[in-house]
Amino acid sequence: MNPHYEVLFEPVQIGPVVAPNRFYQVPHASGMTEANPRVRAAFRGTKAEGGWGVVTTGAVSTHPSSDDSPLPFARLWDDNDVRSHALSCEAIHEHGALAAIELWHGGAAVMNRSSRIAPYSPSGIPWMATHVGFMGNLRPRIMDSGDIRDVIRWQAEAAQRAVRAGFDIVYIYAGMGYLGYEFLLEEYNQRTDAYGGSVENRTRFVRELIEATRDAVGDKCAVALRISLEELRARPSDNYETAAHEVVSLMAGLPDLWDVKMDSSPTDCGASRFREEGAHEPVIDFVKTMTDKPVVGVGRFTSPDTMVSQIRRGVLDLIGGARPGIADPFLPNKIREGREDEIRECIGCNICISSWHDGVPVRCTQNATAGEEWRRGWHPERYDPAGSEDRILVVGGGPAGLEAGLVAARRGYHVTIAEQAPEFGGRLRYETALPGLSTWGRVADYRLHALRQMGNVDLYAESELGVEDIVGLEHQHVAIATGARWTRMLYSSLEIPLGELDAAGVYTPDDLAAGEMPEGPILVYDFDNYYLGGAIAEQLSRAGGEVVYATPAGHASAWTIMTNEQPFIHQALHQQGIAVHTQALLKEFNGEEVRLENIFTGEPQLLAAQSVVIVGLRLPNDALFHALEARAEDLASAGIKSVQRIGDCLAAGALVHAVHSGHLYGRSLDEESETLYLRDAPIVETPPGPVL
Ligand code: ADP
Ligand code: SF4
Repeated sequence: MNPHYEVLFEPVQIGPVVAPNRFYQVPHASGMTEANPRVRAAFRGTKAEGGWGVVTTGAVSTHPSSDDSPLPFARLWDDNDVRSHALSCEAIHEHGALAAIELWHGGAAVMNRSSRIAPYSPSGIPWMATHVGFMGNLRPRIMDSGDIRDVIRWQAEAAQRAVRAGFDIVYIYAGMGYLGYEFLLEEYNQRTDAYGGSVENRTRFVRELIEATRDAVGDKCAVALRISLEELRARPSDNYETAAHEVVSLMAGLPDLWDVKMDSSPTDCGASRFREEGAHEPVIDFVKTMTDKPVVGVGRFTSPDTMVSQIRRGVLDLIGGARPGIADPFLPNKIREGREDEIRECIGCNICISSWHDGVPVRCTQNATAGEEWRRGWHPERYDPAGSEDRILVVGGGPAGLEAGLVAARRGYHVTIAEQAPEFGGRLRYETALPGLSTWGRVADYRLHALRQMGNVDLYAESELGVEDIVGLEHQHVAIATGARWTRMLYSSLEIPLGELDAAGVYTPDDLAAGEMPEGPILVYDFDNYYLGGAIAEQLSRAGGEVVYATPAGHASAWTIMTNEQPFIHQALHQQGIAVHTQALLKEFNGEEVRLENIFTGEPQLLAAQSVVIVGLRLPNDALFHALEARAEDLASAGIKSVQRIGDCLAAGALVHAVHSGHLYGRSLDEESETLYLRDAPIVETPPGPVL
């Protein structure tokens, strides 16, 4: 280990327990509920194995009045739920790490759609979140003193169950709009009793939760407080610099650990496009000056130098990680073993959080094994040895091809990757040059760095392969990873494809990637709805073009609500002076003007445009695959046993899908079917045995 990093491996006392090092996997949404106890046990056990000293659950509801459905959440409502959490504790303890549980009451930020219990709140004001619709849902009740006592009792009872499940650290959650936090903020807490008014009164509910939790767990477990400080820090206070200082000072010595964070998902879990590593520091930096208890915080830390700096400068005691540990569960061990260059660094794309918004177990662009540890039996660092001496040829060196080649090579196969362009990286070659997207280059960098260390890998750039080349290359398995192309396809309405707009002045992202520069005024017409249309509009505008953005969706880059990027994309387009037209269908383009029509009312709008960039439908580049298919006999006589499409060449999608597809290919080599890897009960598991 680099001696400079030794400080990261010092043990830290947290109340009655000791964290073996400073790597702390903070609570994070994983999309794993009581229906997936083995999935989450394997997911968390893998992080402990990778060296995280503390591994925490995501939010665990204390009572049916904290019901976030249809979003996925865990629960500890009664004794029947103990056993499923015990599985996680066992998996974490097996590797010497501490197990922590984030007990949670969602208050007025959950809708109790399943339990149909009127949500709990200090003053009847629902939490306005960017990602949850409220209309049609039950409004929250104003808690009376009996309700307050109930919530505190439910926390204490859940804490006792947590002890029985085997947890070492038990949380009180007062962040991100959930119940404890609603009591802290004066706008949400307008009570006139002992729980409202002064800051001291507004902290009373949280203080009582802490005290009740401590009484429940005794000296067996540490008690942690998770708190959001962004809004509190932003407001003035009479006695202290800010309300945040006052809140922290009033509770400074109460919990055994402070877990400090931002307020809303877009700032707390900021995408790298808009937030640097360590972006939380200006909000949370004061906490350590006000308490002698250890403090943990996050900031998408992947650089050990940044981590050491956080410790040395007295910002944090424990390096919190959610995304860095999803992308590389073995990050701590790699630092300890002096293998920093092998860290699979998080790219900050937030596909992981989008999985939670989608209601499914976590997915990660960089780490295809995340969430698949139990379901497919994939380990992030270990692979089954090659099943034969077969040689693997990968055609196309984009994310799918590089991942397929890397997994196959790690299994011991001899791998050749041929790429027609001078550089590897596929779509990343162009896209990482767009505003804010350079960090995404880590997808190619990590894989190329690893591949270049290996003796059983040949990498050929500037090598476009055709059918004859492939037949002559004497490889037994061929993966076609030739990507996808952007089309000029338009839709006549929400559903019906109209055909391609093949006119002068019409461009696709592929044309821009090839170096073409449209003449202004430019309309960027986006119905892909992910990041690319917005990023291209921003880039063309920065390059001096007069740019207008239009989309049939209700927002620019509409799907990025799932990745926490949408507010900042709107801000970026606004700052760039780009007019945004939503609910707009592109109907006509004559080289000087475009005609848009409102998707609902049909109201037309004419805009000046010399060029149109269509960011819409992508289709696979599968001509080579089909040409090979047509030569089955020649392939057989050349000893080629399989030809398969992977990544965008199979089905065009986001980077996360391409990497997963490449990974699946590498893992499945010499298997009869990729589905053999799925467990019998792949997604919904049966409950794991009797109650403790
Ligand atoms: P994916 O995301 O599925 O990896 P990409 O489009 O990012 O797809 O990458 C596909 C890569 O395949 C591109 O870098 C492209 O240049 C390369 N490619 C396409 N056709 C050939 C070919 N016939 N021979 C070698 N490389 C190819
Ligand atoms: Fe990081 Fe993206 Fe993986 Fe999330 S999905 S952990 S942001 S690389």
